[in-house]
Amino acid sequence: MHNKTLAELSRSLRNKEISSEELTRLLLDRCNKFNKSLNCFISLTEDKALSLAMEADVKIKANNAGPLTGIPIAHKDIFCTHGIRTTCGSKILDNFISPYDATVVKQLESAGMVMLGKTNMDEFAMGSSNETSFYGPVENPWDKERVPGGSSGGSAVAVAARLAPAATGTDTGGSIRQPASLCGITGLKPTYGRVSRYGMIAFASSLDQGGPMTRTAEDAAMILNAMAGFDERDSTSVDREVEDYIAALEQPIEGLKIGLPKEYFDERLNPDISQIVHDGISELEKLGATVTEISLPSSTLSIPVYYVVAPAECSSNLARFDGVRYGYRCEDPKDLNDLYCRSRGEGFGREVKRRVMIGTYVLSAGYYDAYYLKAQKIRRLIRDEFQQALKDVDVIIGPTTPGTAFRLNELMDDPISMYLSDIYTVSVNLAGLPAISVPAGLLNGLPVGMQIIGDYFAEARLLNVAHRFQQVTDWHQKKPTGYE
Ligand code: GLN
Repeated sequence: MHNKTLAELSRSLRNKEISSEELTRLLLDRCNKFNKSLNCFISLTEDKALSLAMEADVKIKANNAGPLTGIPIAHKDIFCTHGIRTTCGSKILDNFISPYDATVVKQLESAGMVMLGKTNMDEFAMGSSNETSFYGPVENPWDKERVPGGSSGGSAVAVAARLAPAATGTDTGGSIRQPASLCGITGLKPTYGRVSRYGMIAFASSLDQGGPMTRTAEDAAMILNAMAGFDERDSTSVDREVEDYIAALEQPIEGLKIGLPKEYFDERLNPDISQIVHDGISELEKLGATVTEISLPSSTLSIPVYYVVAPAECSSNLARFDGVRYGYRCEDPKDLNDLYCRSRGEGFGREVKRRVMIGTYVLSAGYYDAYYLKAQKIRRLIRDEFQQALKDVDVIIGPTTPGTAFRLNELMDDPISMYLSDIYTVSVNLAGLPAISVPAGLLNGLPVGMQIIGDYFAEARLLNVAHRFQQVTDWHQKKPTGYE
């Protein structure tokens, strides 16, 4: 049962092959059993899960259920959950019980989904390996000496190890797609503004976007159907009709124009990964797609631009964690300044402090024009180049990551190499575009993802292409041994 996709679980629940309570208990047992080593959950919310499951069973019995009713899901611990600890992977929020639900959490609960728990993540979503979490690193089930990717590593592992059929994630520079790629699952980063950010603890507000992490594109479509939509409580949410993402899945992709950015396939890319992505593209060609080379010259600057813009925004967003209003407070402060300094000094981890310092530096008088303003200008060029390219092609395809999962501790003392693991993902956030990572192969037993990028609000098209790809390949069905 734990191997079933959302679509299959939905049928099993409706046909009364299993109740939501039974399914929830089964998955909670798996979570309890495997979380000890994988460490993918920060909190398991067993009581809440069982009460939601029982409510769902009443609806199913009364034939009053939607497609997601009674299906368990795990939430990244960046989403506020009413009455439940919401840590964002940080000591500074270790004792924070949220007084409200994030819109995404509410939407999925209204759709009948059952929250199993809150997943581990890099502290404040800053990281690419899940090693910056106050709650310790997460293990990759494909090889427990390797990282799952980050920052939504806990969510990716919960789905890959079959502890949850789906999870939420957030993506500021790649945090849905990169861990999805390294764990062999499907991860969709929607267009900026498509999914509400209300109650999603802010890292870099102009880049952050929540999205689904699932095993298949069809499952991602089911979750996005519930997650997408305008939210008047989020001023960056876009008031635009939500398509039925399921309805678009089966469309033929004959005539689809694919662009391959030459900058994504240069010498920085591992040649074996390049081959796997090219093999994936050939599958789409067999289905009638055509391929042309394109160029995104400014995308090579995306990492430096991102590491000016994201820290600038985070330094401002994280100012609210001051030891006064909520979260960690130091012992016996001498005065107000001591309270601020020690609460933040003791509450934040190293990577967060590094980002706050970079951010305040690039925003300070004298450096603002040289760094922040310059970065914003290049950001605009990156966006313009994507828009230009997307006039000629329907989707852009490339690798999700430059390599497979690296070893735990391998890059912890080398932040630049760590930052470079997002080289193919961050430009999409800088442009605000949607993109999906789908499993496309295995290299030395480790998963490799292929990234499909689309135009603004082209989620339906992306899911359609990904679904068609998954109908002719079985990489998304591969599972790590030991979790069958
Ligand atoms: N790895 C990138 C960073 O460290 C992106 C993280 C994210 O998308 N949340 O900022």
